Amino acid sequence: MIIRYLSNTENCQICGGKLEYFNSGRKLTCVQCGKKEIANISCLNGHYVCDECHGKGLFDTVKEYVLASKSKNPFEITEYLMSQDNIPMLGCENAWIASGALMTALRNEGTIKVTNRQIIEAMNRTKRQAIGGYCGLTGVCGISPAIGSCFSVILGASCPKNQETATTMKVVGKIVNAIADQTGPCCCKNFVRTALSEAILLVNKYLNVSLPSPSGAIICTHSARHPHGCRESKCSYFKASETS
Ligand SMILES: [Zn+2]
Ligand SMILES: [Zn+2]
Repeated sequence: MIIRYLSNTENCQICGGKLEYFNSGRKLTCVQCGKKEIANISCLNGHYVCDECHGKGLFDTVKEYVLASKSKNPFEITEYLMSQDNIPMLGCENAWIASGALMTALRNEGTIKVTNRQIIEAMNRTKRQAIGGYCGLTGVCGISPAIGSCFSVILGASCPKNQETATTMKVVGKIVNAIADQTGPCCCKNFVRTALSEAILLVNKYLNVSLPSPSGAIICTHSARHPHGCRESKCSYFKASETS
């Protein structure tokens, strides 16, 4: 079955119907690959698409783009990728973009050595902990481990290490905190921008690297796509004229 991403809405990928969020996980079968697993989101018609299938093909798209990018500005990279038609409005594809963009900007800036292999490593780690819907289900939006993975890879953090791991955890804590002020409803586009704004400060503090801020104010062009309703005036990236 070929699943097409809906560029204007982010509802069910199969029928376009509204998504339903369950308080308790249910055993659902992915309509694309047939995998059965406990999950909390399906559409009102019962269609469930597992995380693996949700982002199928897009991981490589994001990876190829960032590896080829020459930009030192992570916002430029993320805004370009997030505005592609096949990148869903909501979903952890946005987290892959965040880690890929931050690592790539650091590689291109050049103060610290970042290899392509490290960029892919950070993205792979992000994929392990960025799970659709878990921003609300456990409090860990995949964009937090996305930024954490960048610091971890660069610092060489792991369980037996001390300061490297402590710094990575502190970074993730800061990102979770920053994102928490932007909920109601969650918005992956806002979260990527908010997380990167915080990450720029943390990169400066812990890695002594100055990455560029966004060139001018970011004005969101995705407001009308938000399936749960854009926060509009509560979101710092919303421009009133955009929806009219
Ligand atoms: Zn459906
Ligand atoms: Zn599947």
